[in-house]
Amino acid sequence: MQLFTRLVFSRPTVSIRLLSSMAPIETKFDLLVIGGGSGGLATARRAAEFGVKAAVVEEGRWGGTCVNVGCVPKKVMFNTAMHAEMLHDHKDYGFDVQLKKFDWGYIKKRRDDYIKRLNGIYETNLEKSKVEKITGHAQFSEDKQIEVAGQKYSAKHIVIATGGRPSMSNIPGAEYGITSDGFFELETLPKKVVVVGAGYIAVELAGIFNALGADTSILIRFDEVLRTFDKVISSNVTANMEQAGVKVLRKTQVQKVEKGSDGKLTVTTNTGPISGVECLLFAIGRVPNTDSLNLAHMGIQTDLKGQIIVDKYQNTNVPNIYALGDVCGKALLTPVAIAAGRKLAHRIFKGEKEAHLCYENIPTVIFSHPPVGTIGMSQCEAEMQFGKEKVKIYESTFTPMYYVVTETKYKCQMKLVCQLPTEKVVGLHMVGQGCDEMMQGFSVAIVMGATKQQFDSCVAIHPTSSEELVTLR
Ligand SMILES: Cc1cc2nc3c(=O)[nH]c(=O)nc-3n(C[C@H](O)[C@H](O)[C@H](O)COP(=O)(O)OP(=O)(O)OC[C@H]3O[C@@H](n4cnc5c(N)ncnc54)[C@H](O)[C@@H]3O)c2cc1C
Repeated sequence: MQLFTRLVFSRPTVSIRLLSSMAPIETKFDLLVIGGGSGGLATARRAAEFGVKAAVVEEGRWGGTCVNVGCVPKKVMFNTAMHAEMLHDHKDYGFDVQLKKFDWGYIKKRRDDYIKRLNGIYETNLEKSKVEKITGHAQFSEDKQIEVAGQKYSAKHIVIATGGRPSMSNIPGAEYGITSDGFFELETLPKKVVVVGAGYIAVELAGIFNALGADTSILIRFDEVLRTFDKVISSNVTANMEQAGVKVLRKTQVQKVEKGSDGKLTVTTNTGPISGVECLLFAIGRVPNTDSLNLAHMGIQTDLKGQIIVDKYQNTNVPNIYALGDVCGKALLTPVAIAAGRKLAHRIFKGEKEAHLCYENIPTVIFSHPPVGTIGMSQCEAEMQFGKEKVKIYESTFTPMYYVVTETKYKCQMKLVCQLPTEKVVGLHMVGQGCDEMMQGFSVAIVMGATKQQFDSCVAIHPTSSEELVTLR
């Protein structure tokens, strides 16, 4: 017997027809978002605030990369590493504290519990916002609908926010290695670690391993890590890593990996073998989650890396289909995905025709040891764009007061990139203790178009490291 039920929701635009278990359910929404990560959730929830009937499809855990295998668990581990570092300084401040034992499993459990709570909060927030949750893998069907677990959905507007995943090496034996996803599954601290990669994820995870006591090597293809950033960052972060005890193996690439009977790895590189490795972590980039979406059924264009091509309004080449966040491959950061999603919701559903995210001047922090804060153009970019004679650089290197009584000392380096003749600050780059928390406030000034003179007109806060930024000469 065929069961036919018609459920009418509180909003008149929406109806769901439930047919028999044999027939597919066809559900129509105003907005359907694929991907329940940072960007997707922000888009759907903001749209729902405007009375829109929205749904989100998620195949994994709610919250996406940031919450489950990205920013959040990473920051917990960074904080853990900071404790290990400060413990070494305690004696210099008069405390008799011995580091007897570090229990990785303990902090992992506390971290996982926190993330489970967050997953629940994200789900509850969706329910409170009256956003429909659909679980499963979404893909486009030949008849141009969205199919999840054999059921068809259609919507007036579709947002693709499927994020990305870590790239894996294809060298022989690569399967013995892990990626950043695997880092968060480690049950114990490995004694000997090799991290492959020079980007921010490689730097951050190598820094955590090292601070917590693992014998850590980082394998980089060139001379410095973070080469796409201003030189003040790439040089000093590389130097700080070495000072902290990370072995930076330059011009080094992995050729093969073998596993011994004791379970330990031998990593063969062009500069020699590394044996006794307990953890090999590849942090060599990310690939967009577009390969299993059947984008071809819709004719949605991607670039050679599979990233969805969008214009500044997040429009794909297909009307009423949009993409945002990591899947587009531009500024892979949680607040970027969130901001792009919210702007899009305002544009489509609130009539703000010009609403779009400006991708210039996006502040970023790298949780290295000590951390990096950066916004705007590097010196090199500014000189290329304006000409060398139109750029003025202000720099400072100093020892933060925290280290005046400690044996271990890390310098703080700061650089302002200014455009002449007004000395508008077009870039700010810094590495040093506290730079992570300093960055946000200064970004406001830079986004507002502040000049060096306006920086200087602000009275310094003493004694802090940030006062240096308003007293540079
Ligand atoms: C180790 C690490 C550390 C990071 N640290 C920071 C940081 O400190 N600060 C920062 O700003 N950013 C950080 N990031 C980046 C940040 O996590 C991402 O930029 C952000 O999560 C992107 O959001 P998104 O919505 O585009 O994608 P995601 O958050 O990846 O969400 C995409 C979601 O889509 C789902 N999905 C994919 N395909 C389908 C499908 N076909 N059907 C259904 N669901 C699907 C996925 O399961 C996922 O949940 C970090 C990333 C990593 C890996």
